[in-house]
Amino acid sequence: MAIRIGILGYGNLGRGVESAVLQNKDMELSAVFTRRNPESLHIKTKGVQVLHTDKISSMKDQIDVLILCGGSATDLPEQTPAYAEMFNVVDSFDTHAKIPEHFANVDSSAKKGNKVSIISCGWDPGMFSINRLYGNCILPEGKDYTFWGKGVSQGHSDAVRRIQGVADCRQYTIPVPEAVDTVRSGSNPELTTRQKHTRECFVVAKKDADLNQIEQEIKTMPNYFSDYDTTVHFISEEEMKRDHSGLPHGGCVIRTGVTGIEKEHKHIIEYNLSLDSNPEFTGSVICAYARAAYRLNQEGQAGCRTVFDIAPAYLSSKSPEELRAHLL
Ligand code: NDP
Repeated sequence: MAIRIGILGYGNLGRGVESAVLQNKDMELSAVFTRRNPESLHIKTKGVQVLHTDKISSMKDQIDVLILCGGSATDLPEQTPAYAEMFNVVDSFDTHAKIPEHFANVDSSAKKGNKVSIISCGWDPGMFSINRLYGNCILPEGKDYTFWGKGVSQGHSDAVRRIQGVADCRQYTIPVPEAVDTVRSGSNPELTTRQKHTRECFVVAKKDADLNQIEQEIKTMPNYFSDYDTTVHFISEEEMKRDHSGLPHGGCVIRTGVTGIEKEHKHIIEYNLSLDSNPEFTGSVICAYARAAYRLNQEGQAGCRTVFDIAPAYLSSKSPEELRAHLL
């Protein structure tokens, strides 16, 4: 029987998970839940029910894993602990500093309900985290580098949209090529925030807005832009639609290290992602972890896990024998 998936929250990631479920033959989409009017959503998969979150407990026996696709800032800190008692759940919580607190909250709910939760699945946190961990274990004497981009940062785009006079914005994070090259050379450089990434903003301004004022506010915004070299371009609404409607992203995790009695040998490990669609890729990672959550719960496990706790074979639809024969 296929693993029955529920999606809670139908934004970019909700749609990405929906398309990923279709590619996994051992899964089927049972229902999509939303806090909005269900009739206002136009989901792509035919014959799947769209329900208000009020109805979620009535679907308890028809869903094996509920995938939480709300935002990390305010949705997931409430939603994941709330639903972890009722369902096996997977989320993509990406506020790195708050992961320990989120883990503790989700863990106690999941244990109460005898369910498995896997939090912070995606690419960062997620696949990048696993690769940082492998790099650290294999090369204990070394240095970690993570570069993001070129890609759209939703958080930074939202921050610019809140500035007075801004109608829309797309913000790209771009690694500085010289910094990446220096790291790849194995010279272990110390790099400042400004040396590692630049930021580029494409802004649609409202009529009669003060463009100089907007540009100044962006460039000096603390935490978001003030530590970076930022370029601001003002464009039309048509150009925004034509040239900036996608959500590409990616980046790389690099571990450089040394081995040998005299530390005479250099090694470089690199994991690189180039993603046409951040939400579709993230949805694909989440689906693999949904399979793991289902299996672990079938084995009788309960509680919260992160990507560090899941053995790789649990992610695959193939049997251990098939994996040993073809992928080892
Ligand atoms: P969205 O803003 O598109 O969606 C978030 C929620 O907002 C949805 O679940 C939906 O809930 C609601 N929503 C969506 N569209 C609308 C709308 N038009 N009007 C009103 N409400 C709407 O966020 P994303 O899907 O892009 O991202 C979700 C989270 O995924 C991010 O916060 C990020 O933290 C995480 N993420 C993690 C990654 C990782 O590598 N770990 C990578 C990428 C993303 P509802 O249907 O209930 O209204």
